[in-house]
Amino acid sequence: MTDFRIGHGYDVHALDDGLRLVLGGVEIPHAKGCVAHSDGDVAIHALCDALLGAAALGDIGLHFPDSSDEFRGIDSRILLRRVAALLRKKGYAIGNVDCTIRMQRPKLRPYIDRMREALAADLGIDADRVSVKATTTEQLGFEGREEGVSVSAVALIFRP
Ligand code: MG
Repeated sequence: MTDFRIGHGYDVHALDDGLRLVLGGVEIPHAKGCVAHSDGDVAIHALCDALLGAAALGDIGLHFPDSSDEFRGIDSRILLRRVAALLRKKGYAIGNVDCTIRMQRPKLRPYIDRMREALAADLGIDADRVSVKATTTEQLGFEGREEGVSVSAVALIFRP
């Protein structure tokens, strides 16, 4: 019997003026970016938590503490590759992942396929197993007021 596991991840970062905006491994030109210890890629952080959650291996804060200088300003794609390697070491393969980015502006549609390609490359799976979706919150809440970005993600992994 194949041992299937699912996991869920959620992350929020505040937005501030003049910072880089990096989502799903892709730099997006915008007046605001995420406040963070790392590069602030909130999509990758949610995805890491979904993958770690599926394997019941804790969360991103446990593996890559933001109190550590090692992770200051780090490219979150490095963290995602490390999570994928950890799952492989535990005997898991990744079935698929799906995430939803909630952000009022800018429109993310033009960047979605590049995000999928970047994430798929880091996870070592085909891009047709990686879904990235974006939605506004109709100006409601912190995302709608452009004070922050939230991302939720799910992942399915399995041991053959
Ligand atoms: Mg984070």
